[in-house]
Amino acid sequence: MKVTLSFDNGPEPDVTPQVLEVLSHWGVRAIFFVLGHKLEEPDRLALAQRAHREGHRIGNHTFSHSIPFGELKDPHAAEEEISRTQALIGPLSDDDRLFRPFGGGMLNPTLLNRPAIECLVRGRYTVALWNCVPRDWEEPQGWPLRALHECRNQRWSVVVLHDLPTGAMNQLDRFLAMLHEEGASFSQDLPQELTPLRRGQLIADLTPYSQ
Ligand SMILES: [Zn+2]
Repeated sequence: MKVTLSFDNGPEPDVTPQVLEVLSHWGVRAIFFVLGHKLEEPDRLALAQRAHREGHRIGNHTFSHSIPFGELKDPHAAEEEISRTQALIGPLSDDDRLFRPFGGGMLNPTLLNRPAIECLVRGRYTVALWNCVPRDWEEPQGWPLRALHECRNQRWSVVVLHDLPTGAMNQLDRFLAMLHEEGASFSQDLPQELTPLRRGQLIADLTPYSQ
């Protein structure tokens, strides 16, 4: 069982520190997919800096996290969503610049659009998709069992969690204990099949994610 943990939609002053402490306790390094508009606040930027210092990867998860790119009235607004966030992430990004589109949990054809793809190719980004969404925001107590079940049933799971004040992260320690019990190995990389664009190189068809 191989697992990549990702924490989306932060940083959040009331939650991210707790997540970092639990990860550090278990010696697990993860990926934080941050929102550009949150990084404009110094205390939240400081949390992203702390995560980076503690060995976590920082990925781009759009600036406003409001409209799937495929539904934008002005399709070129996607470029701004990506580039403005990346500028705020700055040196917290590693060479392999990760971008995760906004999409409400499901892989679908509204995740990307043509200007976004062009921008991602130009900027040599890696598109970071996922294959395990235990919907922690809906089931803040029960999500770990659902996630564990999915992790058992696939070779390499990229788990999407949220460092948001839903109460779900109070269960993170329990989830990591379960994974430890199962002998899971942890990675900060992503499987080939979940990175259709890798460092700007197209390695799979993007039409399932952009009409
Ligand atoms: Zn999100």
